[in-house]
Amino acid sequence: MKYIFVTGGVVSSLGKGLAAASLGTLLECRGVRVALMKLDPYLNVDPGTMNPFQHGEVYVLSDGAETDLDLGHYERFTSCVLTRANNVTSGQIYETVLMKERRGDYLGKTVQVIPHVTDEIKERIRNLGRSSGAEVLICEIGGTTGDIEGLPFLEAIRQFQLEVGMRNCMILHVTLVPYIKAAGELKTKPTQQSVAKLREIGLQPHALICRTEMPLDEEVRQKLSLYSNVPVRAVIEASDVEHTIYEVPINLHNEGLDDYVCEYLDLPRVEPDLAGWQRFVAQVINPKKRVRIAVVGKYIELQDAYKSIYESLTHAGASLDCGIDLVLTDAEDLEKEGAEKYLRGVAGVLVPGGFGDRGIEGKIAAAKYARVTKTPYLGLCLGMQIAVIEFARNVCGLEGANSTEFEPETPHPVIHILEGQREVKEKGGSMRLGAWPAVLMENSRAHQIYGRREISERHRHRYEFNMAYRELMEGYGLVLSGLSPDGTLCEVIELRDHPWFLACQFHPEFQSKPTLPHPLFRGFVAACLSLQV
Ligand code: GLN
Repeated sequence: MKYIFVTGGVVSSLGKGLAAASLGTLLECRGVRVALMKLDPYLNVDPGTMNPFQHGEVYVLSDGAETDLDLGHYERFTSCVLTRANNVTSGQIYETVLMKERRGDYLGKTVQVIPHVTDEIKERIRNLGRSSGAEVLICEIGGTTGDIEGLPFLEAIRQFQLEVGMRNCMILHVTLVPYIKAAGELKTKPTQQSVAKLREIGLQPHALICRTEMPLDEEVRQKLSLYSNVPVRAVIEASDVEHTIYEVPINLHNEGLDDYVCEYLDLPRVEPDLAGWQRFVAQVINPKKRVRIAVVGKYIELQDAYKSIYESLTHAGASLDCGIDLVLTDAEDLEKEGAEKYLRGVAGVLVPGGFGDRGIEGKIAAAKYARVTKTPYLGLCLGMQIAVIEFARNVCGLEGANSTEFEPETPHPVIHILEGQREVKEKGGSMRLGAWPAVLMENSRAHQIYGRREISERHRHRYEFNMAYRELMEGYGLVLSGLSPDGTLCEVIELRDHPWFLACQFHPEFQSKPTLPHPLFRGFVAACLSLQV
């Protein structure tokens, strides 16, 4: 088993996750079996309780783990199957260590960061390495070198290298090489200092992945090599991608990263077969058609809040030779100024998931606009719930209809809390989570799109469609086209009198892959294309 640790230096948001995922792509294209994991230094047990401003999207795995969005990159860039074991936080480590202490596992001892916390970290890495069946485990360390909370992880890696053999481990340090305009120069000092920080802890990086706006010239490479103590060929340029993040594996390959890694770790030195990946990238970059799709949410200004949704649209678009022009619309602006102003001329409307009542009326107005103007609509989770509210109020005449999440005393609780959630007191990891099966109605749009009746999709919610309103709403043309196998939960809705209006209680965006777009996204983009005026 070989281990590659990916650390980050200088600043956050350098794309460590993308670098790790891209290396995964390259190794898989060489026929190497890889596993990917992320170690996050924060004390939350999982990111499920953080809001998107703090943390971007929460990515949900099929086993119900609420994880860091980098795991989304891992699943999209490789064929890895991830579980909760693939995202370990300091919170989880301390939770386990403290539980062991209370149980008496350390009787007689003082429980300390070294060795007890570091042992627990190493154990998680080793266990995943063992259970994954992979040849190479790529392990990303969240945060930035120099952060106090990251120290136990780096110390654990130092010990780990000794235990599994130095030649079985590699440390890739993702760093920033800023361009200072006034001087007209790329600066290596921040990298020198962050590598020095790593060395202080006893870690010597084996390669530098240098994020830069400008090409690294020979002199800069020499300098980085000299000060960081890595060979010149291990100074890898990672310039900003021109069009799409899917170019990253190709760029890193052109810089020789995978070749160097395979040589260092004594892995087969075959050329990777990147043809399929390159075809996909070409489709993303040069589509023949274009379509404008509005995403109406409340975290529109954050690039990362709806990451998987944007990626899913890209995958679907590429498969249809179609580029997506996103019209990012703030639900609160739309609420204030009307749907017409923001949505006129778009080919489709997508309302993503969300929590809390901010912006809800704007999202409802967006669903209404799509329904009335016969514009294709895709609602995801909350996007389904607000479509139900809109239909109840404006088609079925249920004045004041709402979700009890936003208005506990609503006269028409068309969305209400799931059975079993009322008693839930703890907020962490307690929603209806992970993959659940659903059955699609014969000949429904959903059935046509999926091409099968049984599906499995990932969930993350506490509220659901209130079945007491089923008959009434069906009478007005709402179609409950997907149900849980026991028929008690509504998983998909459609509108009878609309060319393409579909919403689901689950999150299809967590199962879309570059060359295997999710059927719902593909169906939605295809409808936007064919119906656009
Ligand atoms: N807030 C809603 C619920 O809990 C929707 C959740 C979501 O969109 N992920 O049911």
